[in-house]
Order: sequence, then structure tokens, then C-alpha cells
Amino acid sequence: MREAVLVSACLLGHRCRYNAEVLAPREIPVDPELIVPVCPEEMGGLPTPRSPSFFEDEQTGEEILSGQGRIVSEEGEDRTEAFLEGARKTLEIAQQLGARKAFLKERSPSCGCNEVYMGDTRVPGIGVTAALLRREGIEIIPVD
Ligand code: SF4
Repeated sequence: MREAVLVSACLLGHRCRYNAEVLAPREIPVDPELIVPVCPEEMGGLPTPRSPSFFEDEQTGEEILSGQGRIVSEEGEDRTEAFLEGARKTLEIAQQLGARKAFLKERSPSCGCNEVYMGDTRVPGIGVTAALLRREGIEIIPVD
């Protein structure tokens, strides 16, 4: 099987961020045979652009996977199921390709590895997709 790594699609210049901003493509410090862009929020069915989403309280990715806490939009819409769906689809891709590493956009409610947003405040925590990949033994590497 070819060596594959997953990368948050927005880090590769894809137009998938909530505000449709295109980021300058980041350097991914590995040279695998296959770099696979993934955007869990789009795969969970959310449109681009979309209003920002954040954790309602200190319960972040790990707790969301365990059925506690919620992710809500700025307008208060419950988006928890879309985030879970995106995480499951991302894991499926990783497993199909045998990917062992994922480079993920720090502070996103899906992809954040060490920090996320609760309202306007940065808090220690992990995104839903990052938490699921980590649970399944995939190394998650934060990228700013
Ligand atoms: S951080 Fe993750 S979910 Fe957010 S736009 Fe980038 S790839 Fe998509």
C-alpha cells in the first residue's frame, strides 16, 4: 500500500474555511507518496461559506465523541451531528488508505489538536475529527 497522510484541506489552499478565505498553502514536512486533503466540516454536510462553529462549553472533541457537549453555530444552531459525521468520514478515508499521520489545522472545532474556540475564547481542547483520529491511533500533528 502507498504511504498516505491526511492534511486539512484548507492548509493546502482549498476554499473550505467557514468564511471561504483561501489560506496560503502550508509546507507539509513529510514526503509521502500520497497527500490526501480532507475537510471534515464539508464532508459532514456543512456549506462553504458557513457561520463559525464553536464548542458550547469546555467539553470539546473527546467529550463530544462520548455523547456530551454540543457544537453550535453563531446563531445557536446545533451542528454536533454534522461534526461527528465529518469525523467518521475522515476516519474512513484514513483507514481505507492506511494513513498513520494527519496534519491538521490548529484551533478548528474539527481539526484543532491542542486548542479550540469556546465562543470568542481560545481554550485548551481538541477538535472532533482530531479526537477520533487520535483515538484510533493515528498521529495528529497541529499546523497553524
Ligand atoms: S480546519 Fe478542518 S474543517 Fe476547518 S476548513 Fe480546514 S479542513 Fe475544513
